[in-house]
Amino acid sequence: MVAAETHPAGSPANDRVRAHLERTLRGLGLQTSVQDTVAPEAGQLSGSAGGTTMARVRNVVARLPGTDPTGRVFLVAHYDSVQSGPGGNDDAAGTSAILEAARALTSGPRLRNDVVFVLTDAEEACLCGAAAFAAEHPLAADGGVVLNLEARGRTAR
Ligand SMILES: [Zn+2]
Repeated sequence: MVAAETHPAGSPANDRVRAHLERTLRGLGLQTSVQDTVAPEAGQLSGSAGGTTMARVRNVVARLPGTDPTGRVFLVAHYDSVQSGPGGNDDAAGTSAILEAARALTSGPRLRNDVVFVLTDAEEACLCGAAAFAAEHPLAADGGVVLNLEARGRTAR
């Protein structure tokens, strides 16, 4: 479902992937929301000449509360694909691994610390989704341990 078709940020196909992710995470009983914002490219303020890259991003964020949390663990992958392919390993593999981790963690013993599942948008265009989560999302405010599941594309162009 995540890599059934090419689904760059902003496309109807990407809307379908996002709906699948929301359904799946809500189906596990997780508090799930979509961070819908407009964000600049990561590192935009580093002084590159020329224009500004911005994107509308819709990050899917789900939280599994810990029993006695002292911090948060973030499991992160991006769900958008490049424009030239369906993104099977970059990054549907990471996205799928996070859905499976969510399933396992919601069916096993409760963890002490909060786990936040962050499926970001618009990575391929500009890392805008990850930048928006880090800069704006309330769950990111106190930091934590971040595991980012990412892969390289495989096609020789
Ligand atoms: Zn990627």
